[in-house]
Amino acid sequence: MAQVSLKKLVKSYGALQVVHGIDLDVADGEFVALVGPSGCGKSTTLRMIAGLESVSGGAIEIGGVVVNDLPPRDRNISMVFQSYALYPHMTVRENMGFSLKIAKQPQSEIDRQVNEAAAILGLDALMERRPAQLSGGQRQRVAMGRAIVRHPEVFLFDEPLSNLDAKLRTQMRTEIKKLHAKVQSTVVYVTHDQVEAMTLADRIVIMRDGYIEQVGTPDEVFKRPASRFVAGFIGSPP
Ligand code: ADP
Ligand code: MG
Repeated sequence: MAQVSLKKLVKSYGALQVVHGIDLDVADGEFVALVGPSGCGKSTTLRMIAGLESVSGGAIEIGGVVVNDLPPRDRNISMVFQSYALYPHMTVRENMGFSLKIAKQPQSEIDRQVNEAAAILGLDALMERRPAQLSGGQRQRVAMGRAIVRHPEVFLFDEPLSNLDAKLRTQMRTEIKKLHAKVQSTVVYVTHDQVEAMTLADRIVIMRDGYIEQVGTPDEVFKRPASRFVAGFIGSPP
């Protein structure tokens, strides 16, 4: 069974339809990248999966359950954004444990989860710092740590690396790959960077103007683009 399933998914803002009935199945443990030019509907699609935007038509299933009307916290997802949105007054440890604290987990359990995530992400030495005392890459790692402590079935990323410089972006790419190999969650990863998509994803979904233009492995979309648009998008330099 698909872990995330979009069925004729539609989004309209007032009279303006921006996602036009898209279908997509993401398998359990699969890493799927949504790519396409700015404004093509990537974030809107991701935010509907997360429950941060309402659905105007069709359905979203997560783990076989229609989640259209479920609030974000009941969807078994964690989302990592481009802007890290860490709490500035909290330490790294407190930032990472916050969602578990809200969920009223016992402190011993919070400590266990946070320490485990810190070890995976190499954050052990930074746990008592505040966000202002961290580099951009370290902050992004904390944002990921905050997402993984909840052990979600599905990770949603919206351009998590686009605020980082080129060198750090390459480095974080490797870390995300390692992280996925380790936790084996299902990932839907939005990026406008085709190189990032090609190196990270099992399958790539190319969007254009609110439609899905092609879905395929990096190899397939590169070697057998379904249209001139895909060829141009995948082939052009970042
Ligand atoms: P992407 O993430 O691919 O750059 P978005 O999903 O953010 O694209 O946007 C898709 C389209 O929806 C764009 O045309 C954008 O202007 C429009 N849009 C996004 N959010 C809103 C909103 N809150 N109100 C009206 N239009 C919106
Ligand atoms: Mg976007």
